[in-house]
Amino acid sequence: MESVEKIVGVVSGKGGVGKTTFVSNMGMALTEMAADITVVDADLSTSNLGLQLGLYQFPVGLQDALNGRMDVNNTIYTHPSGLKIIPSSISLGYLSQSISPYRLKSLLSGLDGVVMIDSPPGLGKDVSLVLKACDDVIVITNPEITAVTDAFKVIEVSRELGNEPSGIVINRSRGKHELRPEEIEDMCGVKVVGIIPEDDMMRRSVFERVPLVKFRPYSHASIAFRKLAADMLGIDYKSPKMVRIKRILGVNR
Ligand code: ADP
Ligand code: MG
Repeated sequence: MESVEKIVGVVSGKGGVGKTTFVSNMGMALTEMAADITVVDADLSTSNLGLQLGLYQFPVGLQDALNGRMDVNNTIYTHPSGLKIIPSSISLGYLSQSISPYRLKSLLSGLDGVVMIDSPPGLGKDVSLVLKACDDVIVITNPEITAVTDAFKVIEVSRELGNEPSGIVINRSRGKHELRPEEIEDMCGVKVVGIIPEDDMMRRSVFERVPLVKFRPYSHASIAFRKLAADMLGIDYKSPKMVRIKRILGVNR
């Protein structure tokens, strides 16, 4: 894991572009590749990472560690796949508390392996918290002008905080009637490191609370997540054999 930074923050500017989906699927893909990874829900007001991973009840969460009421290790839940999750306690009562990014960083730095943080939308205080606490910033966007404009804004905020984003991931690409990767790179001054296609099964996988890489392991989007996970780890990824037939026959669905 030498090529991977310790704490990776996933941001977007615009909401609903696929941050939580990205974090849950990348977490799962990295776990499949034997990486030690913890995904953290820092979307404190509209948290749903735990839910996307099939966690229904989590009496403790990130806020309890930030408050000092709980050791951070006791806020980690382990998914049957081995992926570790620190959910966010869905309680509005926590919202008013101001949180120090240095505290967040020091808590997460103490964990084993790599940490990937799912963040809230927008450019506000909660997003700055993540930008200040992480070592590496990945920006998710859709290939549309509105999403890319907001991606650029969050990139600017990140730069002002001295954290140059390492890459953009284009999510929900359909390959036509959309901005091209080079155009997005030119607009933002950050390279595109991955392209995840639009996948009709994504909605269903979110509904079923099983990340797509597990729900439809041979779909184009799942393979794109795995390729990106392999790139992050600096390992070669070989596409599974007879993938078209497996897709059609629904093998291992
Ligand atoms: P964010 O965390 O940025 O607000 P989410 O990850 O919750 O966004 O994604 C919003 C919705 O977009 C999801 O419920 C999912 O249905 C849909 N979605 C995300 N990625 C894709 C994709 N690659 N293909 C199709 N739908 C997607
Ligand atoms: Mg989200």
